[in-house]
Amino acid sequence: MAVITKQIKISSKSENDIIDITEQVANAISESGISNGTITVFVSGSTGAITTIEYEPGLVNDFPEMLSRIAPDDINYEHEQRWHDGNGRSHVKSSLVGPSLTVPFKDGQLLLGTWQQIVFLELDTRARTRNLVLQIIGE
Ligand code: ZN
Repeated sequence: MAVITKQIKISSKSENDIIDITEQVANAISESGISNGTITVFVSGSTGAITTIEYEPGLVNDFPEMLSRIAPDDINYEHEQRWHDGNGRSHVKSSLVGPSLTVPFKDGQLLLGTWQQIVFLELDTRARTRNLVLQIIGE
């Protein structure tokens, strides 16, 4: 069994930017030479998140709107009183969605559904450059 760890950089444009990273994840598997196993995608940071979605414009709007109903912009966050960085909502949304995703692959192919893409979700209040860790375990 082998373990290969890679890092990729991506740049988000704004809060609620959802970036389809499926191709980069698939490329990392191809380059690894590992045929069967799992890949973990992890964002190093507490205001981003990783999940899957059907990457189409409706859901790309619906998903952040759903998060805003759970963690609205206009309520009090204790994080704000402590740090004054204006992104309390970003942190709680990030924790809710989660920083990582593990996807199995077989014969070099991600076992995703046809309409299921792997996405990075920018939840901070501004554009950011992000380091994503891709760790492949398999044989
Ligand atoms: Zn903060």
